[in-house]
Amino acid sequence: MAERTPPPVRTSDSTNSTVGTAWDFWKRQPLYLRILVGFGLGIVFGLLLGERAHPLEIPSKLVLRLLGALAPPLILIAVVQALMQAEFPQGSGRRLLRLLLLNTFVAICIGLLVANVLQPGRWSNIERPGEPPAAATADPLGQFLDNVPRSLLGPFTDNGKVIGVILIALALGIALRRLQGPRRLLVIDLVGVAFDTLLVLLHWIIEVIPLAVFGIVASIVGTSGFSKFVALGGFVAAVIVALLLQTTYYLLRIRGGSWVRPADVLRGMRDALVMAFSTASSTATMPLTYDCLVHKVGVRERSASLGALVGANFNNDGTALYEAMSGLFVGQLLGLQLSFWQQVMVVLTSIAASVGAAGIPEAGLVTMTLVFNAVGLPTEFIALLLTVDWFLDRCRTTVNVMGDVNVSCLLDGRERAAPASPSQPSAATFDLESPASG
Ligand code: ASP
Repeated sequence: MAERTPPPVRTSDSTNSTVGTAWDFWKRQPLYLRILVGFGLGIVFGLLLGERAHPLEIPSKLVLRLLGALAPPLILIAVVQALMQAEFPQGSGRRLLRLLLLNTFVAICIGLLVANVLQPGRWSNIERPGEPPAAATADPLGQFLDNVPRSLLGPFTDNGKVIGVILIALALGIALRRLQGPRRLLVIDLVGVAFDTLLVLLHWIIEVIPLAVFGIVASIVGTSGFSKFVALGGFVAAVIVALLLQTTYYLLRIRGGSWVRPADVLRGMRDALVMAFSTASSTATMPLTYDCLVHKVGVRERSASLGALVGANFNNDGTALYEAMSGLFVGQLLGLQLSFWQQVMVVLTSIAASVGAAGIPEAGLVTMTLVFNAVGLPTEFIALLLTVDWFLDRCRTTVNVMGDVNVSCLLDGRERAAPASPSQPSAATFDLESPASG
């Protein structure tokens, strides 16, 4: 009798390899695509499960908690690193600081104005708790003083205070700049290692964002339908309007305060702006920003290096505008009209948070937890913003780069540099590792 061959058994090895291949395929997809898939699946599961989808919000809560935990050390290290590496030519530091502060202030005012006029948080009819959060009603001066650290480690504990973290980071950075010789190099190295390590941790958290988006979308759709997404659509539109206004402000300032013409800026910076949008990282774009400024727009190397290499570390106007608008949006969603002084508090914390935001994808989301804490807004609502952050991050990064361009052009002044003589060294020499590159 012929022996019967047994049917092929699916071993756990082959199952593992199928899962492994699917996982590899998933991980190879760009983050925005994975988030969109999470979004789509979230809608489907929310509709299927209804109220039972509520517990699916847990991963998003976890992600927010971890982002909040990472925010204070990330801000500290980013600011210390930027301060230690920055080189300010004689007399230029103050001018740069003035320009950076003015631009960030204008950005936040534009953000608050657009959010107050369009009121995207009121575009949907959701149940509102009515009761303002306790911290939001405290007196503004008291709130500000409360942010001055009582102890060095205080701002790094639970409910970290962003202004306190920035104050400590600035003090440490300035103190460490006094180090000389090998000790200075050693500290720069150590700070660099700490920064890279934190970025690895941040990267791990970012990997979970598609799952978090899936869960929060399913939970929202299952428990309260699509009403919150109407408001979210309004928020996206409002942020885009505000970012466009900020860009217009930059171009008008360039027209009035420098020899450069706005149309030439847009033409010359095209590559850098597209790269900023596609990478969502102003730091990754930095070399190209510098290169376009010097070779396509024609700005002096010194101005480009101050604006695009030094300034870029502290200059995140798009991020500041976004954080302020998010605070107001969530306030409106909860039925809270933040008072003038509470909005001032949002301005101060957003400035601090944008200074501390590294030029990497999702950095604004990390520091936003601290802005929310400062004005007593519930950080759970940042989970809602996770769903659109992948897109808005790209838009605000592009504006962050435009901010660096604006500063470089203004620093270049009203007189165009004389064309270099053939004997002069090429302007193309640009060392990424130089201290100014940050
Ligand atoms: N991605 C932004 C940047 O690189 C920072 C942020 O998340 O706002 O400039």
